[in-house]
Amino acid sequence: MIKAAVTGGAGFIGSHLCKELLRQNFKVLCIDNLYTGSKENIEDLLPNPNFEFIKHDIVEPIMFQADQIYNLACPASPVHYQSNPVQTMKCSVLGILNLLTLAKKTNAKILHASTSEVYGDPLEHPQKESYWGHVNPLGIRACYDEGKRAAECLCMDFYREYNVQVKIVRIFNTYGPKMAINDGRVISNFLIQALKNEPITIYGDGSQTRSFQYISDLVEGMTKMMNQDDFPGPINLGNPGEYAIKELAEKAIEICGSKSKIIYKELPQDDPKKRRPDISLAREKLEWFPKIPLDEGLLKTRDYFKEKLRKEITKN
Ligand code: UDP
Repeated sequence: MIKAAVTGGAGFIGSHLCKELLRQNFKVLCIDNLYTGSKENIEDLLPNPNFEFIKHDIVEPIMFQADQIYNLACPASPVHYQSNPVQTMKCSVLGILNLLTLAKKTNAKILHASTSEVYGDPLEHPQKESYWGHVNPLGIRACYDEGKRAAECLCMDFYREYNVQVKIVRIFNTYGPKMAINDGRVISNFLIQALKNEPITIYGDGSQTRSFQYISDLVEGMTKMMNQDDFPGPINLGNPGEYAIKELAEKAIEICGSKSKIIYKELPQDDPKKRRPDISLAREKLEWFPKIPLDEGLLKTRDYFKEKLRKEITKN
């Protein structure tokens, strides 16, 4: 049986990945410090004899044997990664350093979850992997952006210097069931606000764009990348459909049959004006492309939050 370790395995993306790996008959070691992840996300996996959970912060070294390591450990929502920026940088840099050192010792393959944030507020559109990015190294997003850039650098250095089998994926905005109610990112905020008939908070004028990929597409891309040999990446994983934030707000209101009004708040510093992945490399190397369009994924996510809010009301 192949053994995979997933750091950040109790988070939104990590818990979906653990579930998929179990479905593919892997033995799964889930490691999480439960800072933004939660036991609730992996509740259904705990009884599985092929699943093991360890509470651990990868900033501290750890020893285990696995054939594959997926490193997803890091708060990823701007609200969360900015609330403890020093910890965010430590988690990105020391975390991957600890895991790369372990991968070198144990001869494990390691996939690192990087991000479209390495492109910063991009001057090239759409973004290809060859673009070096436009990041403010001193701003409030730098703890995440520069942390992830340093982590990519460490991956490539371990690859060239020690032949560690690294895989770097750059993940674009991802959404779906199991996002936390307090996640703070745009899709969860808008759907929850719309379901509660509360004001929809657009930051800035809503003309900024993002490209949203549904969780199952991402998980498929990550496992394909792990199983692709001799290519370290980086590779973009995202859905090239591009939407203005205002358009997204209108969609949320419509699909929730909501009475919410839109209100405008200040645009946070360094908020990227546009973002869209060029996924030609993933198409070519992995034969991967996203299958779930935004309208379909939003309905599934709406239903998830509807049920979650209903349960919260019955609990109180
Ligand atoms: N945003 C918004 N209202 C919210 C949350 C986010 O208008 O309640 C905007 C945010 O300013 C950004 C975009 O939506 O332009 C995506 O934000 P998110 O935090 O989801 O992720 P990012 O891509 O910025 O990391």
